[in-house]
Amino acid sequence: MEKLERLRPIRCFFFGLCCVLVFVCSLSWNVMKNSPWHPRNIFICDTHPAENIVFPPVEEPDVRLERMLYPKPETLKPPRTDVLTITPWLAPIVWNGTFNSDILNAQFHKRGVRIGITTFAIKKYIRFLKDFLETGEKFFMVGHKVNYYIFTDRAQDIPNVTLSEGRNIHIINVTAYQRWQDVTMRRMQMIRDQTYTRFMNEVDYLVCVDVDMRFYGSVGVEILGDVFGTLHPGFFGASRAQFTYDRNPKSVACIPVDEGDFYYAGGYFGGIIEEVYKLTNYCHTAMMTDKAIGIEALWHDESYLNKYFLYYKPTKVLSPEYVWNNYYGSPRAVQIKRFIGIDKDYKEVRFRR
Ligand code: UDP
Ligand code: MN
Repeated sequence: MEKLERLRPIRCFFFGLCCVLVFVCSLSWNVMKNSPWHPRNIFICDTHPAENIVFPPVEEPDVRLERMLYPKPETLKPPRTDVLTITPWLAPIVWNGTFNSDILNAQFHKRGVRIGITTFAIKKYIRFLKDFLETGEKFFMVGHKVNYYIFTDRAQDIPNVTLSEGRNIHIINVTAYQRWQDVTMRRMQMIRDQTYTRFMNEVDYLVCVDVDMRFYGSVGVEILGDVFGTLHPGFFGASRAQFTYDRNPKSVACIPVDEGDFYYAGGYFGGIIEEVYKLTNYCHTAMMTDKAIGIEALWHDESYLNKYFLYYKPTKVLSPEYVWNNYYGSPRAVQIKRFIGIDKDYKEVRFRR
């Protein structure tokens, strides 16, 4: 009896231990049940094909594939060694000499790709449109289906430019904001608003550019990818500290000095419609968040675009050949200037009516 009395605390301890174990087991069972690893989330497919499957109509493949002759790519002899041609996240950086337009054109023609190019010609900027379109016809996506989407408040002043077959101009009437900063920033919202209602049904890729530019060299399908940005001509050799990112911690666009890959140009980005939607929607929402507390990022839409690309890396990066400006001279790395900014009197085009 006395012995039993002495053993009581030990019995109590073991009983308590059992209770705790039962509790822990039931808890982990519950957690397991809801975890993605639980067999509940494994779907077993029926491996026996159902009878009478109707496949969607697909064109018979042409088995007599056409021969294509071109120099073999040399694994041990990269075409460019003077510039970075791939990012650390394996996105190609498009420089002259790194691609073969014939191969690319053949591939994109097989897919019958349709390309949209958006630009804004609001208020006095309508004056840049004629040159933009005329040189676009000579150099932009020659031989492919192209829709020019012109956002303007002056539809009556759209110049009459003869376009090649398969190429069209679409005019999108928009209101003109009074401040030039708002005109450039609201582009994000205006592009976004057309993505699902219009672009999605009409084109496969979008290229979104400034209008105060002219084409000087070929800009072809080598630029296309899921989502692309372009190295700003003023900063491709610069350090992180030199990048003119927004540094105000209160702004959504803020990028601290120890972060950043490249400084991307605000006037040249694009991709597939879904990706352009995500990009423009992010930038517009970020701008509105800042606006609500009275903040406007240092370089407007460009600052928000740079923030976006830091976290949602572009799948292709274009070299500054694609958005050049002659006041940056002629560095050796830039062998071709394909799209160049037109000199403008800022005060005259932006402020005087
Ligand atoms: N823009 C416009 N009307 C204006 C101001 C700007 O249409 O009054 C559009 C136009 O497409 C222009 C772009 O916004 O190319 C960006 O503005 P800007 O070219 O003046 O900026 P920058 O390239 O000088 O930084
Ligand atoms: Mn510009």
